[in-house]
Amino acid sequence: MPRITTPAALLLAGAMVLAACGTSDADAVPATPAATALPPSPTTAAPTTLAPPTTLAPPTTVAPPTTAPPTTAAPTTSTTTTTTSTTTTTTTTPPTTIPPTTTPPFTIAGLLDLAAPQLTLGLSIEGRPIVAERHGTLGGRRVLVIGVIHGNEDDGVAIIEQLRARAIGGTAPLETVELWLVESMNPDGQAAQIRQNARQVDLNRNFPHNWGPIGMVGDSQYAGTGPASEPETQAMVNFIEQLRPDIAIWYHQDANLVIPSTGRDGRVRARYAELTGLPIADCCGGGGIYTGIAATWARNELKQDSDAVPFIVELPGSLTPEQVASHADAVLTISVEG
Ligand SMILES: [Zn+2]
Repeated sequence: MPRITTPAALLLAGAMVLAACGTSDADAVPATPAATALPPSPTTAAPTTLAPPTTLAPPTTVAPPTTAPPTTAAPTTSTTTTTTSTTTTTTTTPPTTIPPTTTPPFTIAGLLDLAAPQLTLGLSIEGRPIVAERHGTLGGRRVLVIGVIHGNEDDGVAIIEQLRARAIGGTAPLETVELWLVESMNPDGQAAQIRQNARQVDLNRNFPHNWGPIGMVGDSQYAGTGPASEPETQAMVNFIEQLRPDIAIWYHQDANLVIPSTGRDGRVRARYAELTGLPIADCCGGGGIYTGIAATWARNELKQDSDAVPFIVELPGSLTPEQVASHADAVLTISVEG
């Protein structure tokens, strides 16, 4: 994984409680509070690792570091053969085959070809592909839309489908826009209709900026064993680090709002809210812990070289066809306006 900061610093940062809301999501509101409140070390160390090509080159299947233990019989038997036969020198192959029983291997996509019309960013815990598709005009303003991060909040899929249909049908104004769609970055959770991934990690608490330990397996906001411990998170981190979108939207449900912000970020959010009729309001009045949030990570990552706008849209509990159309329109409008 690129950019894992020191556990001690992360734990410290993770202790930060960033405002309100039960199991819903706050994207840690504007960039400013997050920036001021944070200890500088984890973030400032990061830019050195910036260049994405540093990650593995071709799609390499890597075993998660945890899958060492089942070094079964294989290596031991080979030692015996070496002593008996004089000619066979090296039979001692390290555990090349990964036991499928424990945590399955995941694919680190490495360097991505962003000119391709479709990319597999990585695989979920259960082996489902996380796919990004490109529409519009290569070289235009890069806009990324993620339909699902919490598996049981998946009405964003309908918006993605509509955007795809309009893009393919030529009815979307994409002359100046390079539109990237990720229908789901949590396909396992979506299949099971649960919030978390298949390891019961809340992916929107697992991103590697300001990560902090939350709960344990079984808790709705369990943050995983470490920053970006989950393959789904890793796939998106790798993708966004390379894509560096100008605007990125994560759909959630069902707080029915857009969180306010300042500057360009605030302006684009307000425009989106105006176009869709969603209120601009703070999320969500509870006492949640907001560490490891995807949009906050993206803002921190992208602010290094741009004034990008990554934000959360909290949809209502369900969407009418008119609302789906209105959200697709809003995405296209802010994409064009910037
Ligand atoms: Zn959510």
